[in-house]
Amino acid sequence: MILPHANKLTAEQLKEVTTIVTEFGCKIQPIIGAVRTIYAIVGDERDELMITRLEGLPYVERIDRIQSPFKLMDRRSDLARGKLKLGGITLGRELFVIAGQCTIDPKNPNLFYETAQAVKEAGANMLRGGVWKPRTNPYTFQGDAKSLEILMEASRRTGLLVDTEVMEEAHIQLALDAGVTLLQVGARNALNYSLLRAIGRAIATRKTAVLLKRSIHMGTLNEFISAAEYIAAFGNPNVILCPRGTAPTLDGYRYHPDESITPLLKEKTWASVVVDPSHSVGKAAYVPACALAAIAYGADGLCIETHINPAQGIGDDPKQAVTPAVLAGIITQARQLWTTLRHAAPAG
Ligand code: PEP
Ligand code: MN
Repeated sequence: MILPHANKLTAEQLKEVTTIVTEFGCKIQPIIGAVRTIYAIVGDERDELMITRLEGLPYVERIDRIQSPFKLMDRRSDLARGKLKLGGITLGRELFVIAGQCTIDPKNPNLFYETAQAVKEAGANMLRGGVWKPRTNPYTFQGDAKSLEILMEASRRTGLLVDTEVMEEAHIQLALDAGVTLLQVGARNALNYSLLRAIGRAIATRKTAVLLKRSIHMGTLNEFISAAEYIAAFGNPNVILCPRGTAPTLDGYRYHPDESITPLLKEKTWASVVVDPSHSVGKAAYVPACALAAIAYGADGLCIETHINPAQGIGDDPKQAVTPAVLAGIITQARQLWTTLRHAAPAG
């Protein structure tokens, strides 16, 4: 990893660096952070002569040789200096809340517009709405591309930026062209490396961010962070990790709530962590406690399924969406807890 003195290399400097690494069979991949750009050396970067020649360049501050399975997402990587800003919030500095329906019902657009307005009033920073839906049962509603228009209309009406799940490569460009700011990779696709690569490639030079859910089948934390590396490797480091419950399921909860992995992730990676309590517990009544636990564990934000009238919802909404009034309560308490924990002396 090449770290320049300045915030980025000039075109001439980049050409010189590229010429050197090419001699040694490597390539340069710029990683564009919010503040500075750093340059990954892709290939076998162990050649001492190559490193010495790069270190000798006057505009190079240092060469980082991080021996990590995910060298861009690694905490020690210089990407840690970049700060992700979404919906007016700098993640890590203030609580970031995504809220909205699991699934947009194309037959009832007004319900989604009402939900969107209500989550805004409750204090959410971003609107979620499922357009294409991964469903366990093939005979249930699978989503509808028409809902993308409804999502963007709700965004225009409320001024909230939006998050939606992309399930296959064809969805990526449709979502980007429509103006989606946060592409969600669902728990079922978090291990779909060709989709992760396609997303990385599509957003390489854009400001778009990705909310990467933890797969139900991911064992180690390294597996989760490495999946994020697939996306970041193309040059856009705006990947957020989202614990959303894992296997085995706990009797009474939909999955095994995993907000407790937040501090463990933060020891390994600089990436922001936004917890999804809705899918973890799978029942609206348990969502507030899980959300507050996530904040207690140091999460940077929450992604909460919310519906103006859950009983009229489709997909997961009748079971696990909270009402806007409950969302407002969660946000107020979560902000209080956030402030208490970050400004008080550490406990214990
Ligand atoms: C969702 O966010 O509605 C969803 C399907 O989530 P997950 O991929 O975590 O199951
Ligand atoms: Mn859902």
